[in-house]
Order: sequence, then structure tokens, then C-alpha cells
Amino acid sequence: MRILMVTAEFAPYAKTGGLADMVRSLSLELCRAGNDVRVLLPFHGFLPERYRRDLRPLPGIFSIHLGEDHWARLHECVEPGGLRIYFLEYEKFFGRDRPYDDGYRAYEDNPRRFALLSRAAIDLADFLDWTPDIFHAHDWMAAPVPVYLETVARSGRLGRSASVLTIHNLAHQGYAPPSILDYAGLPGSLFRPDAMEACGGINFLKGGIYFANKLTAVSPTYAREIQGVEQGFGLQDALRFRSGDLLGILNGIDDNLWNPATDPLIGANYSSGDLRGKEVCKKNFLRARGMARSGKMPLFGVIGRLYGQKGLDVLASALPRIFGSMAGVFALLGAGDPALEDRFRSIGASYPGRIFVHIGYDEALAHEIEAASDFFLMPSRFEPCGLNQLYSLRYGTLPIVRGTGGLRDTVIPYDEATGDGTGFVFDHLDENSLHDVIGWATSTYYDRPKHMKVLIRRAMAMDFSWKKSVERYGDCYRWALEMKRRP
Ligand code: ADP
Repeated sequence: MRILMVTAEFAPYAKTGGLADMVRSLSLELCRAGNDVRVLLPFHGFLPERYRRDLRPLPGIFSIHLGEDHWARLHECVEPGGLRIYFLEYEKFFGRDRPYDDGYRAYEDNPRRFALLSRAAIDLADFLDWTPDIFHAHDWMAAPVPVYLETVARSGRLGRSASVLTIHNLAHQGYAPPSILDYAGLPGSLFRPDAMEACGGINFLKGGIYFANKLTAVSPTYAREIQGVEQGFGLQDALRFRSGDLLGILNGIDDNLWNPATDPLIGANYSSGDLRGKEVCKKNFLRARGMARSGKMPLFGVIGRLYGQKGLDVLASALPRIFGSMAGVFALLGAGDPALEDRFRSIGASYPGRIFVHIGYDEALAHEIEAASDFFLMPSRFEPCGLNQLYSLRYGTLPIVRGTGGLRDTVIPYDEATGDGTGFVFDHLDENSLHDVIGWATSTYYDRPKHMKVLIRRAMAMDFSWKKSVERYGDCYRWALEMKRRP
């Protein structure tokens, strides 16, 4: 199959979270399975110099048919294995330091920026003389792709191309005033509730939900949750309307990047058969951060975007009591909401030796924390799939998670009576529950070392490779094509 991935992020070139990892590993796996996979993403201004060197500008000016024509350039990079990545250069929209906001507020022209990316996916076929069977759009930033395919590009060269829209995070939907339709070159008739209209404006994601041939969400539980009021963010009715075409497919992890037996970014390698390396990682980590004296205490790792979704504001409130009542140390790596960043900075300064706080984005440190920690905390308010709990399981770092979305699908709750499970699951997100579940993990660490060992081995033996999920995406593509090509 010829598959075009349309995405705002693609690791390692542009990444703010799990989206970038997921699109990359899915694309690589599909490529390995013999498909012709290509990726379209913006040429972001923050693309590191070391990657720019490998780009080849494609000859010719690329014209993008929005309401008016826009002219851009394409750069190509072919990765070993044959994966082709196209970087859309349009300086005015994408030559910026950050993908979606200036650090405080979303860019006002985001709808125009991503209408351009989406329309470029459509026009790419003519430019390259290459017709995808499947357009796979990711999140709201590419959600207009299915809308174009079913309206202005319905006949002609793309008449037999189908679309799949994956929802990685329903909280972001892409709102714009109705005039965006003119700008995007989409018919005004889309301004209706069963197309793109919502609350008097245009909602990109809603359009994608109505027009994609098939929809996926990144875990089975999340696919169910988003059809309800609590997690539907206003799109629950549209999603229920399409529920027959909505599949929940769990993300896999990239075994080459996240494998404690081979990971070059950690102090010592290890496997479930021999965990000595994990102890070395913990010792090194604590020593390097001036916390060597706490070597016998359990270490709790936290890595994530510091936004409301992740529930880490509640952790910040709970920490003083936790420090007062139990013997454990913490390592936190994250960036995001400036107010929450400040809160954690000040907690770090107030409790030296008990918590190491690093505000920023640091891939190598993320690996170090995963390998060194005994437990990994994800008290998310909602979590479409979540990757960090999967990395944690793989690294024998027992996840402590709120039972939502992909966290519920991937962590087996610990049963103190039998020693069954792979982690600690709790339901209500408040300071007390967080205090209690961390206390439960701490007591397990000190009082039930045999259970700890069994849990760790079981966690490390879980299979979260892409194998099964890639097969499900393959089915999804075939169903989308059948749907599109039905007479
Ligand atoms: P989300 O996509 O909602 O951010 P996921 O758990 O699906 O959450 O994916 C997060 C990814 O981003 C993981 O690979 C995680 O290690 C990485 N990550 C998040 N914040 C940081 C950070 N500050 N430094 C390094 N890696 C980070």
C-alpha cells in the first residue's frame, strides 16, 4: 500500500510528546512490512542543524491550492529502510521556535498554518506524481485532509484514496472563525453541525471525524471514553455517530530506542534475568544528583509535560505531606505551564536530597530516570495512550497510574493478596489518593520485596512492541479502502 502520514510532529525532527514517537514507529513498522510509506511534516524553524544537513531540496516550486494559491518548497530525507520524509518549507508559517505557541499562548494563525499543511498533503500527489492509497492524518493539525478528500478532491486522481484519522488527544481540536473555509478553499456548506461547525465557528477535528473513512484512537479505553460527556470535549456526539468506524489501537514502543539491554543512554544495561545493572543505574543517578545518602529509599520517577492533563499539579500539592510521612525520593523532569514549572522549582529548592527537579526537555535524562527509578508516577486526568508507563514496564520501573485511557489498558493492578499485577492503579485524583497510593508502593518496596521482584519480572516480560498494532492498522487501512471504493 502507498501510505502518506500527515503530521505536525515526527521524532526526532520535531517532538513535543507521544504523537511524534507514535507516528515515527508506526511508519517504520509499516515500511518494514513492505508498504510504500511517506511522511509530510512542516519544516519547523527549530529543526536542529544536524538534521538539516541530510535534507535534499526537491526541484520546483510546490503550489498549494488553498482559496488562493500559496507557493512553498519541499525538502526530502530518505531514512535507511526507505522511509521518505517530506519537510514542507513555508517560512512565514513554520519558521518558528516552537510548533504551536510562543510559550504562553497558541499562535493566532494556527488554523491557517495547518490548513496549509493539510492542503499540501492533497497537492503532494500531483507534485510527486504519486497517489497514496491511504492518507493517514494525525490529530486536528491534519484533520482537514479527510475533509478535502471527500469534498473538493473527491473526483480525479485522489477519487480512490481513503483516509484514516487518528485521535491522539481530543483536548486540542483546532477552532477557527467561519472565514477559514474561504481561506482553506473549502465549500461554505461545511458550516453545518454534521460537518465542521461547532459553537458558531469551525472545528477542524470535528470535520475530520465526520469525513474520515475510518477513525482510530490510541487505546481501546480511550476510544470508549471519548464517546462520553466527561472526556468527549464536546465531540462525544460526533464520535458516537461514527462509533462503528472508530477503533481503539494501542500504541507500541520503539524497541531500538527503549530497551534496557541495549540503551546507550543509561549507566549500565540490564535485563529481567539480571537486574544488577538497574541497581547501578539508580546508584549512579542518586550520586550524580547529590542524593547518594538516600540510596536505600525507593526512587519515584516523573517525566511529562507539565499541563493539567498530567495531574502533576496535584502531585505538587501532595508532596510536602508525602515527604513528611514516608521515606522516598523523587526525580522529576518536565516542562510546560510556567506556573507549575515554578512550583516544582521551589519544591526542589525546599527539599534538597528528597527531590531532584529538572525543568526542560532532555531525552537522555528521560532514559536515565526510567532506568534508575523503582516506581514511575502518572496521575493523569486523562491519558489517551501514554508511552512513559510502557517504557517504565520495559525498564522494570513499576508504574503508579490513575486508571484512565491507555493507562488502564496497559498496567495490571497489583493484588497484594496474590502478588499479581504489574503496577499500582488508583481511581480518584486528589491529594489523599495520591498520598495513599505512593504509600502503598513504598510499603510494598520495604515490606514485600518478593512481590516487588515478581512484579518487576512480569512487567519486563510484557510485550508492547508494534507487531499486533501494526496488523490492526493494516486491517483498518483495508477497511477504509473498501469503504471508499464501494460502488
Ligand atoms: P504525551 O504525548 O501526552 O506528552 P506520552 O506519555 O504519550 O505523553 O509521551 C510523552 C513522550 O515525551 C515520552 O516519550 C516522554 O519520555 C517524552 N517527554 C515528555 N516530557 C519530556 C521531557 N521534559 N524531557 C524528555 N522527554 C519528555
